[in-house]
Amino acid sequence: MEKSKVIIIGSGPAGYTAALYASRANLNPILIEGREPGGQLTTTTDVENFPGFPEGIMGPDLMVNMKKQAERFGTKYVNTLVSKVDFSQRPFKLACENGDQYEAETVILATGASAKYLGLPHEQELIGKGVSACATCDGFFYREKIVHIVGGGDTAMEEAIFLTKFASKVYVLVRSDKLRASKIMQDKAMANEKIEFLWNTSTEEILFDQSGVTGIKVKNNQTGESTERQTDGFFVAIGHTPNTGFLEGQIKTDENGYIIPPNPPHPDTNVEGVFACGDVQDHYYRQAISAAGSGCMAAIRAERFLSENE
Ligand code: NDP
Repeated sequence: MEKSKVIIIGSGPAGYTAALYASRANLNPILIEGREPGGQLTTTTDVENFPGFPEGIMGPDLMVNMKKQAERFGTKYVNTLVSKVDFSQRPFKLACENGDQYEAETVILATGASAKYLGLPHEQELIGKGVSACATCDGFFYREKIVHIVGGGDTAMEEAIFLTKFASKVYVLVRSDKLRASKIMQDKAMANEKIEFLWNTSTEEILFDQSGVTGIKVKNNQTGESTERQTDGFFVAIGHTPNTGFLEGQIKTDENGYIIPPNPPHPDTNVEGVFACGDVQDHYYRQAISAAGSGCMAAIRAERFLSENE
């Protein structure tokens, strides 16, 4: 059983920034990286809105840099997933998927949020065979192919635009008659000749054979009419679910599973000594920079908590 003053769970901008601050405060943090080291930014391309990079930076490069920066000051990284926690008393106990066990004086939760799927029959088994929630990861496989993408937010617009680099045609399935995306992203997507919007359209079924996805059955929500459409790829970009399941109700969340800090803007949770930062507690801003800022706050609170309780 390894012991630490601070254990950070999660490796996106929030986790790495918390690690940077905690390690510079000589707390020798352990950061447990989770299943997707680097988090959501590793599945994106250009990041143009993280200050300090006038020409932009690739998402994966930004995450590698953040990781290295915290490593320089003594953060230890462990590549596994936390499967169980016991926050009933301090030191807190953590059990990991690889069998590792830890004891921590404080814990910083930075587990982020994961892509949502539609819940259609066969959707999960077709991931990697034509179904994807990450255009930047899988777009490359759809050169000169026809693809459909579900969603009307910024993610869907960004991914649709990205897909036009490869696909011959990108259809965007929007369940209502309006987009939720920011005006600038809407304009960019609408100006792209390869993108066509299908309004008031929901997906009912994914059609497939042994080779993978071959089409989809969609319904027009106004007329109720169902039609089959041929497609090579089916992308889902409908938002995210916070990664709080492993907490088994020990940390207070809202009905969607997002952690609710009881004393905002402080990153404390309902358990003294457990702090939350990044998308796992933020369904509103969800930006790399706001996640990083909240990671800094969580580390400073952990440091002060430790000095007050020593
Ligand atoms: P959003 O929650 O903003 O949008 C989700 C979209 O998916 C909505 O259009 C919603 O439709 C649709 N949707 C939800 N469930 C279903 C369903 N079951 N069937 C069909 N459609 C569905 O999520 P995003 O991931 O797009 O964005 C999250 C946040 O990240 C936002 O704040 C966004 O601005 C930000 N972001 C910023 C980027 C940037 O600045 N470059 C890039 C990407 C994201 P409806 O509107 O009808 O509810």
